[in-house]
Amino acid sequence: MKTRVAIVGAGPAGFFAAQAIFAKDETTTVDFFEKLPTPWGLVRSGVAPDHPKIRTVSKVFEKILDDPRCRYFGNVEIGKDFSISQLQEKYDAVIFASGADIGRKLGIPGEELMGVHSAAEFVPWYNAHPDFADFKVDLSGTHAIVIGAGNVAMDVGRLLAVTPDELASTDIADHALEALRKSSIRKTMIVARRGPEHAAFTSPELRDLLDLEHTDVLVNAELVQQAIDRTQTWEEIPKDVRQNLEAFQNLSSIVPQDRDRELSINFLLAPIEILGDTKVSGVRFSINKIEGAEVIPTGETVDHPADIVISAVGYTSAALDGLPVINGKIRNIEGRITDSDNNHISGMYVVGWAKRGPSGVIGTNKNDAALVVERMFEDLATVPSRGTEFTPEIGFVDLAGWRKINESEIARGESSGRPRVKFPTYEELLSTARS
Ligand code: NAP
Repeated sequence: MKTRVAIVGAGPAGFFAAQAIFAKDETTTVDFFEKLPTPWGLVRSGVAPDHPKIRTVSKVFEKILDDPRCRYFGNVEIGKDFSISQLQEKYDAVIFASGADIGRKLGIPGEELMGVHSAAEFVPWYNAHPDFADFKVDLSGTHAIVIGAGNVAMDVGRLLAVTPDELASTDIADHALEALRKSSIRKTMIVARRGPEHAAFTSPELRDLLDLEHTDVLVNAELVQQAIDRTQTWEEIPKDVRQNLEAFQNLSSIVPQDRDRELSINFLLAPIEILGDTKVSGVRFSINKIEGAEVIPTGETVDHPADIVISAVGYTSAALDGLPVINGKIRNIEGRITDSDNNHISGMYVVGWAKRGPSGVIGTNKNDAALVVERMFEDLATVPSRGTEFTPEIGFVDLAGWRKINESEIARGESSGRPRVKFPTYEELLSTARS
């Protein structure tokens, strides 16, 4: 009997798991269950629209969907349309590739003020994720603060700081492009609580900033030099740190051109309070310093004005139909989902951000998923196959439906030279899929 695997979540980790399964065994079939009508996960709704190269991995995903061993059930929510136990009954293995889509909180006073958002809302909004079609962003002020020193903070900061014309030829959501056209934001601060040597940005993203044509990028040369000096005392400077410091040094040597728009990267400022009455007016930061290996407060604070604040300080997973989430991840040992006694729940696996937390680039999921798939086959070899043919009896979006959405979006973009114009609502996505 052939082995049947259900994968919950059709994002990068899910696709790489399917790819590893098909490479390992010719007869195993894979059914994807995806909450959205559309697949690709973060490649569609996370990757910044001005980074189209990163989206090209979707070609790999489409090839996997084309495989006759693969079926796609979109617009299906596990925990609502089906329970996990229903999947456990029908499949030999269930792999959760459900990601981490809840923004971590800063946990400081003022976070609830109007104008304070999480990147977990802002990013899917500009990428036309249908859950955020009604999300409202007020860009009528002049100052934006983005908290965090990772690639998400960089994406958000850059999108706020460039001119709308620089985004007009991308697949950014129409509603976001329109809002950015009206935006008065001219000064965007990305703020790190530690030093340049600790930043989680990756160097290609930093080097990209050298190419901005209409935005002055400001990085404090003195702080970068201090970081370079500090790392000289390290036993070994990791390659990514060295490359980041080089990129910061190049950025800090640019002479500002007195442009209308400014994007600054700031270090050693930890947010302690969001200021404002009902609406945000600024952020109070503790000024930090580095002593040895420690980052500690100096005891001094500084206030920076802000009309909008976006925190980009990481993500956590949602509890999925009773699966335990511990420290933002589905409880697991090397991808095997475990019960509270650390015993493997037979047939249950997890990959991607839901397994290891929100870290790594899209490609990181490839090896990670392949290792879990290897363990899955090891486990399945010890039990007889019990999967049965299963077709959900609800209005799911199948592969043909997704292909209609995909083709229509691409066609909508053609006249304006854009890669696609996304449907931003469930209504439009579903009516196109069923047309
Ligand atoms: P991240 O890389 O983990 O960065 C999170 C940042 O938030 C860190 O700088 C962290 O600083 C900071 N932070 C956490 N708590 C904070 C607090 N209370 N106050 C101030 N700062 C705080 O997470 P991410 O940016 O969400 O990215 C997630 C993953 O997706 C990363 O692996 C990233 O590389 C990847 N990604 C890649 C791309 C790309 O390849 N272009 C684009 C987007 C995302 P500390 O270090 O001090 O804790």
